[in-house]
Amino acid sequence: MGTKGREIVGMDVEKLIEALNKALADEWLAYYQYWLGAKIVEGPMRGAVAAELEEHANDELRHAGMLVDRIIQLGGTPILKPEDWYNMTNCGYEAPEDPYVRPVLEQNIKGEQCAIEVYKKILEMSHADPITHHMIVEILEDEVEHEEDLETLLRDMELMKKREL
Ligand code: FE
Ligand code: FE
Ligand code: MG
Repeated sequence: MGTKGREIVGMDVEKLIEALNKALADEWLAYYQYWLGAKIVEGPMRGAVAAELEEHANDELRHAGMLVDRIIQLGGTPILKPEDWYNMTNCGYEAPEDPYVRPVLEQNIKGEQCAIEVYKKILEMSHADPITHHMIVEILEDEVEHEEDLETLLRDMELMKKREL
């Protein structure tokens, strides 16, 4: 990163890079969880659910790219080894061992809720770095939307069940 660009970051840059790398680990694991979920999900509304999961997978991959670009700009090194996704993650990975729509949606909702908490924390610690702060606002907006999308799908499935009785 440019010397002046790094200088204007009014906080511990190493600490910030560490937080961004941890979020990067989360994004990769979330990406794979969604991407795989979209392939294997089964049950009612599977088409709608798979389409939503696939869309979210693409968003998580885009978030990973945004984080890496900023880490490099800050003079840091993005996670180099996939094993460090597991070592550094905040939110972990939930294998979709039961491919039925409900558990898959619930696992991903849990992941989104964790992501929202993680980004809220990074938002609070990055006030002194407007560029990172702005990027985190953008990502957080997506995560909030993701949670709502998945909860809406679950609710629609509940409604369908009730109406059929
Ligand atoms: Fe994300
Ligand atoms: Fe998300
Ligand atoms: Mg969506």
